[in-house]
Amino acid sequence: MKNQYLLFTFCCVLLLQGCSATSHPIGKPALGKPSSSAEMERLIDQPGPIQLETISSADWSVPLAGLLNLNSPAAIETGLKDRDEPIQIYAHVLKHPRFGNFLVDTGVSKKLLGDPGRYGMNWLIQRVMHIEKIHTDKSTAEILQGMDGKLSGVFFTHLHLDHISGLPDIPGEVPMYIGATESSTRSFKNMFTHDTTDQLLEGRPPLQEWRFQPDPQNKFEGIVDVFEDGSVFAISVPGHTPGSVAFLVRTTHGPVLLTGDTCHTRWGWEHTVEPGDFTDDNARNLLNLKRLKNLVAAHPQIEVRLGHQK
Ligand SMILES: [Zn+2]
Repeated sequence: MKNQYLLFTFCCVLLLQGCSATSHPIGKPALGKPSSSAEMERLIDQPGPIQLETISSADWSVPLAGLLNLNSPAAIETGLKDRDEPIQIYAHVLKHPRFGNFLVDTGVSKKLLGDPGRYGMNWLIQRVMHIEKIHTDKSTAEILQGMDGKLSGVFFTHLHLDHISGLPDIPGEVPMYIGATESSTRSFKNMFTHDTTDQLLEGRPPLQEWRFQPDPQNKFEGIVDVFEDGSVFAISVPGHTPGSVAFLVRTTHGPVLLTGDTCHTRWGWEHTVEPGDFTDDNARNLLNLKRLKNLVAAHPQIEVRLGHQK
């Protein structure tokens, strides 16, 4: 009886500890140096050298309670109720004049949708994600075909499956970048997705973690100057996931903010409401959403592109 109790306790502790997002190795980043919000804000209003195209790779629909915290005062006041909400899955094609082509997130591979089991998506994941509701407009393979030159790297806003679902179309040697502790922090939710994430990353180079250091102005948790020329800044915005990253891109047409899933929806951005059930840490997510909104308030010419809606 005592042994059974010990075994039960041991299993409970294991479950509560959860597991990491993936066991894929982590390496030092080949790109990026620590920067500051002062340096970023000094440059934001000047046009930059980057060409940026945001492509809707697939249409999908998911519960609104995942996309928005329906218990937030703004959602209650508006009377928002849970329902199926149409969203898109994006890939952003970023072209640097010297460093070449990069993707921010990956879109969706038709290969993955055609045979999800082969890529580690077991029946439970397929059911929970309702992958039958994902309809590709432009698969990752088609996005890569339309690219002028080869792909030099992928910058992930975070490692949720709908952001890495283009990997089956991406050549195996392409370098991949993530936020600090994104892959290694343990959580209960990861127990369902860990093996799928591992399988999608299998055989690829180590994930490179951005070298974030505290922002001297304390406006963000950390900022990295990706190409060390002030053209693209990776901004540490943990909350949705432990290593969520947003990007400030100085394009030839002006500054663009890619929020990643720190904000999924237009309504969430306009009402400053963070995502709901899909988010790990609502309070920290909301804090970092407010920080991004403050940045845009100070630089209103920034075009904001959200995680899953226009
Ligand atoms: Zn997400």
